[in-house]
Amino acid sequence: MRNRAHKYRIYADQQTVDFFARCCGVVRLVYNIALEQRSSFWRQFKRAEGRNISYPSQARELTAIRAEVPWIAECPIDAQQQALRDLNQAFGNFFAGRAGYPKPRRKFVNDAFRIPSSRIGPIEVLNGKWARVRLPKIGDVKFRYTRPIRGKVGNITVVREANGWHIIFSYEFEHETPANDNPSVGIDRGIVNNVALSTGEMSSMPTSDLDELHKQWQRVASRRKSRSKRQAKAKRHAARIAARAARKRLHWQHVTTTRFARRFGTAVLEDLKIRNMSASARGTAEDPGRDVAQKAGLNRSILAAAWFRFETLLTYKLDFLGGTVVKVDPRYTSVTCSECGSRDKGNRENQAKFLCLSCGHADHADVNAAVNILLAGTRPSAASERSGGSRVLERAA
Ligand SMILES: [Zn+2]
Repeated sequence: MRNRAHKYRIYADQQTVDFFARCCGVVRLVYNIALEQRSSFWRQFKRAEGRNISYPSQARELTAIRAEVPWIAECPIDAQQQALRDLNQAFGNFFAGRAGYPKPRRKFVNDAFRIPSSRIGPIEVLNGKWARVRLPKIGDVKFRYTRPIRGKVGNITVVREANGWHIIFSYEFEHETPANDNPSVGIDRGIVNNVALSTGEMSSMPTSDLDELHKQWQRVASRRKSRSKRQAKAKRHAARIAARAARKRLHWQHVTTTRFARRFGTAVLEDLKIRNMSASARGTAEDPGRDVAQKAGLNRSILAAAWFRFETLLTYKLDFLGGTVVKVDPRYTSVTCSECGSRDKGNRENQAKFLCLSCGHADHADVNAAVNILLAGTRPSAASERSGGSRVLERAA
């Protein structure tokens, strides 16, 4: 069995949208009160009850509170119970050493609530474009049905994003992994927003115009009077642009990783953890192009997140098709010649150009790096493959 989640945009009237916002608020409040209870009142609770605060004890108290507070009772109890479950899980992770101490949920960050499938109606497909589903206490919710769900729905999440409300269905389905004998590829994720393949192809995330616009509006916001309506407006505008850029990046990541996963069997990537530890392997550790990240215009943390997601998507898509992702140490991939193996800082003429001082091999610097990444991930022994055919095969494929 495999798990998958699809997200759809909700189209609802103002009344429903306001109700979504209230539900998120109540769910957040329940979570934060329950967290406060576990943090501050567990001794008192133990003295009175003789046992620790747990999911069942908090769920019982929730029922009692709902009987007394109508605006908590108006929102679906399932969503509130799910919040208590989340908190229970968060403490479980904390005590097992898998995660830090649970933090309170925040408005505009944690605007979501979840409902188990047993409490929702079936998905009714209205036509090629629209579908609806019935949620407890909310009623019918209409959403843009962009792709079908072929499996058993586990739960749904309603979530607010900068461009509106969405519904996420997570579901299970059966899948048999096929055999995969597609060729291998090395992939170099740049410290600018581009990706290079060992086949010589290059592609870049198409968001630079939006990123520039986002920066402009942030500057506008910072110039306007602090906490004024006009400043808030500029901030909202900037946030919407950032969200549009994020959607565009995600779309590109999906399209690109799907294409790669269908075409290749083994994808070799640099291990980003090592790359980040060596404080930008391309910049400081190996010198050339020190300020590339600034020049790229795309914020470093956004870029890191984008490349991490690229890897996540590629990994599960390849896995689905019987392929695999191999990760290698990224050090020296950008200053080593992929033809003769000579390692020299001088091999890098500039950020874009690679020219080997020993054998004269010339290539785009990122493509040269991608070939090195492929070699590092696939060669049985260093020397025999370096002169050998894997690159030629890739070029031909
Ligand atoms: Zn060389």
